[in-house]
Amino acid sequence: MRPGKGRVMLFMCMLLAAMFVSTAAMAASPRIGILIYKYDDTYISTVRNALNKALDGKAQISMQDGKGDQATQNDQLDVMIERGMDGIIVNMVDAQAASGVVDKIKKAGIPVVFFNREPNLDVLKTYEKALFVGTNAADAGKMQGDIVKSIWDENKYDINKDGKFQYVMFKGEPDNPEAIARTDFSVSQAVLNGVKLEQIGETFVCNWDTALAQQAMESALAANEGKIELVIANNDSMAMGAIAALSNIGYNVEGGSKLIPVIGVDATDQAVDAINRGIMSGTVKQDGEAMGNAVSAIMLNMINGKAPLEGTGYKYDDSGIAVRIPYSPYVGK
Ligand code: CA
Repeated sequence: MRPGKGRVMLFMCMLLAAMFVSTAAMAASPRIGILIYKYDDTYISTVRNALNKALDGKAQISMQDGKGDQATQNDQLDVMIERGMDGIIVNMVDAQAASGVVDKIKKAGIPVVFFNREPNLDVLKTYEKALFVGTNAADAGKMQGDIVKSIWDENKYDINKDGKFQYVMFKGEPDNPEAIARTDFSVSQAVLNGVKLEQIGETFVCNWDTALAQQAMESALAANEGKIELVIANNDSMAMGAIAALSNIGYNVEGGSKLIPVIGVDATDQAVDAINRGIMSGTVKQDGEAMGNAVSAIMLNMINGKAPLEGTGYKYDDSGIAVRIPYSPYVGK
């Protein structure tokens, strides 16, 4: 035998074996398209990481960044359907555009799990393979309201001693259901807890964004310095912007003597760090990892023809098609 021939044969066999294994793996592994409203969102990044981790080895995933543009996301969906995905996971850019998305996926006949940004559930009910995984938006606000009460009870922040807590409010988006619920329930819960609240200025709508919140807070401080006793923000990114503005004029500095309590939502790494350093007062944890794991498990169940919630430990809420991942408050170590 010429030297080398055996090696060639062995190589051919290995190549064939490898081709066989990969074909078998591909046949067993479903293809899942994942549409994200935008990658540049701290909380959504935690969900994306959890999705990647949970689906690793169980599905071939194709994830796309909608970049905050619904038209872009619609195009991405068209491509995914054309490529014959076995299931689609959608984080809507504009939740009000969900009916078009549902119609397209319904035509393709594949399951879809929406998460985080909540479409009208009646729209989802038009397709038996559509589900939603989200949170109970009111709960985040209520937990903020409870944090307000515990801060008020420290008897340290009524600067003008009028028995009322003067606050400014940072809202994510004008018509977003989560933003509306957090804004309303944080205040109503604090009032229910017996805290007298008085808003300073208009509600600042800052698109969930740190830089916009910092600008708004700078203006608010310029007009009302010494009158603001509390900051409530729909998310931690805006809370961080408010803290940046406060820090610039000597409040909320680590180890400093002047603190205006700031409360957010999301428990981002940055906010948890700020709370642990004593320059922020509280946040509400939206468990991105639990969200990603639930979405993955439900999607795989639906693709495999099982009951969607099998083995997940979750139950549907009153709608019968939505699962709510619970929040938890965080006020420091
Ligand atoms: Ca006061």
